[in-house]
Amino acid sequence: MEEQKECSSRNIPLPVQREVRQRCGFGCVICGMPLYEYEHMEEWAKVKRHVADEITLLCDQHHREKTGGLLPKDAVREANDNPFNLRDEVSKPYNLHFSGREACVEIGGNSFTCEDQGYGTVMVPISIDGTPLVGIILADGHFLLNLVVFDEFNIPILHIKNNQLFYSTQTWDIQMVGTNLIIREAHRKILIEIDFQPPNKIVINRGRFLRNGVEVLVRPSNILVTNNSTIVSKCHAHGCYGGLVIGHHEHPIGGFMTLGNIRRYLGDRKAALKYEREWLEINI
Ligand SMILES: [Zn+2]
Repeated sequence: MEEQKECSSRNIPLPVQREVRQRCGFGCVICGMPLYEYEHMEEWAKVKRHVADEITLLCDQHHREKTGGLLPKDAVREANDNPFNLRDEVSKPYNLHFSGREACVEIGGNSFTCEDQGYGTVMVPISIDGTPLVGIILADGHFLLNLVVFDEFNIPILHIKNNQLFYSTQTWDIQMVGTNLIIREAHRKILIEIDFQPPNKIVINRGRFLRNGVEVLVRPSNILVTNNSTIVSKCHAHGCYGGLVIGHHEHPIGGFMTLGNIRRYLGDRKAALKYEREWLEINI
């Protein structure tokens, strides 16, 4: 490890923060909570340097307990050596506080809204091969968000099941700041950015939904299906069961856009990106 000079700023440099997040499994090392603070295991006043190995993640409760003396330093060190979220390679579920009789999902400037019809209303803005990637259930004032993000190997890395959020700790980076969740595949490469707006709205302005060789790119102004250069922009669907329905569905669902036969594993998406660029020049 490189010896660091005494540092006068209390602000931890961003690359050090990321290293700490990765090492701690993107959650409090004691309980796995995805909302946390960066904590110097030795008092900052003593060490005055930011070395990733000396910093850990603690949620608000465990941070207070440590500061107040109820949580011994050794217990924090022990948890730091064996972080909660790395034990099962999956984070502890975090409960999102959604509720209400109306739902709004905005994806790439398109909006999907619905109201609870009294018997449990389902809305699926994006579905690929029978897997709802984004879905909402409204039932008796309950707003249940369901969302799954796959990586290129078809492995789910983020799950929200009926408002319970959990994620794979094998990902390059996951960060929740305020209402905003960002998953990165690599440096500067965002896989998805979701803004939770409780009680009943979520907004996705940047993202890459992948499933079985289908790629759906989300930009602030549009959605682009790269497999066949389909652009969806400025659409609004209300009370529509399905939104963008792609691929094979054993139980066909009606959507405002259905793309049944679609070429898979399109390695070269230059044509789609070129088409999108031209489209953006004309439309934005
Ligand atoms: Zn905790």
